[in-house]
Amino acid sequence: MVIQAKDIKYLNATELAKLVANKEISAKELVDVTYKNIDLIEPKIDALNSLTKELAYSIAETVDSKIKNNEKLPPLAGVPVAIKDNMCIKNCLATCSSKILEDFYAPYTSTVAQKVIDNLLIPVAKTNLDEFAMGSSTENSGFKTTKNPWDLNKVPGGSSGGSAASVASGQVSLSLGSDTGGSIRLPASFCGVAGMKPTYGLVSRYGLIAYASSLDQIGPFARNITDLSLLLQVIAGYDHKDSTSINKPVPDYSEALKVDIKNFKIGILSDLIAEGVQPEVKSAIESVLKLFKENGAQIDEVTLPHQKYAIATYYIIAPAECSANLARYDGVKYGIRNEDSPDLMDMYLNTRKKGFGDEVKRRIMLGTYALSSGYYDAYYKKAQQVRALIKQDFDNLFEKYDLLVSPACPNTAFDIGSRVDDPLTMYLTDIATVTANLAGIPGISIPCGFDSNGLPIGLQILAPVLQESKMLQAAYTFEQLTDYNRHFDKIKL
Ligand code: GLN
Repeated sequence: MVIQAKDIKYLNATELAKLVANKEISAKELVDVTYKNIDLIEPKIDALNSLTKELAYSIAETVDSKIKNNEKLPPLAGVPVAIKDNMCIKNCLATCSSKILEDFYAPYTSTVAQKVIDNLLIPVAKTNLDEFAMGSSTENSGFKTTKNPWDLNKVPGGSSGGSAASVASGQVSLSLGSDTGGSIRLPASFCGVAGMKPTYGLVSRYGLIAYASSLDQIGPFARNITDLSLLLQVIAGYDHKDSTSINKPVPDYSEALKVDIKNFKIGILSDLIAEGVQPEVKSAIESVLKLFKENGAQIDEVTLPHQKYAIATYYIIAPAECSANLARYDGVKYGIRNEDSPDLMDMYLNTRKKGFGDEVKRRIMLGTYALSSGYYDAYYKKAQQVRALIKQDFDNLFEKYDLLVSPACPNTAFDIGSRVDDPLTMYLTDIATVTANLAGIPGISIPCGFDSNGLPIGLQILAPVLQESKMLQAAYTFEQLTDYNRHFDKIKL
């Protein structure tokens, strides 16, 4: 059967896997048409930094030979996936969208990528991001700004903007991102796809190029919850190579989707639908609550008493950790080097000056300042104390509630260029998402409406530590009751 690029564009991962398993298309053909799609769409959205063709075709060959031999395949075998360019795959570029790593080929494979490969999914490309995952719009990429597929003048959200845009635009059905303060949930919200940040420690960070290690977590993007759960299943689980990895059995997430949400107690974080929130976002969330109520859930308004300190706390801790993590880029071990320096110090300084963009430099300065001996207690220590209070706020709420909900962002996607010169406004974009990272809990964004310009609105659902199943159940129920993830035909690329 001859399958055209446009035929597979919006098939979901489960459907693609079935086509391959039923021999309606070979894995090689699927990779061929995926690259055709990418060629057509990519010039319009700039979501990808590089293609991983050699790897893709070698896995496709493995899948095809297993099929030929009638071997049993894992559930997503043969499905193309895009991977954020801050995760290492041996012999592939891993640039973090930074000039300092422009020519860096990873010497080893991250645990997540290895699991993806072991499960016979096919990494086809590395996706664009804000440099070192620092940003909320993908405009801080050292290479290019990814466009929002729904409106090419809008940002796709960040920092995993490339991963979200590649799924929304139909380049791939699945991708991986990382979320330090919202970098999966925010672009998922702006691009109208599902994206989740798992519990801190559920997915190994080994081979994820570090931004802020106590907050970073890898997670999946998909166009529906079934696919998302299957990809989470692939990447979750204990890894001795990551000292913060949780050593507990991983539940069957797909099984969990079958349970209904009747009797769930859900808290709506009322501060996040108060003043300053785009009215269409507010009313979309209100409709969600109504729907949950009609389906048997109990809904109460709740607050996180320390929510108002969340952005300040996050923007001390994340830069502090980044300033330490990024000290390794000195021109000696990784990436570019300033070659014409007369001495070592000049080489360090000029390598970093040339290699890092403005936002990364800003964060390194903020973080170094917050960690300096004179200010450590006033900033870093204080921020850690407030972080503990925010975690306690969640612990208290989760004694009474199964799940908490809010918008993923107070607004829909904004114009490219409109916030990039105003770091504080840009930081406020993360108001709803950073608390989950500070507390280490899981969170998801799923599409729950459109604004008057047709831009997607994201619903955030938060759950207690390791309660991903509950969160996915609620998301799945919502998806069954609505059709917000079935409007991709409106994207004209
Ligand atoms: N926007 C936040 C930041 O710039 C979050 C980024 C992320 O989650 N990687 O730090």
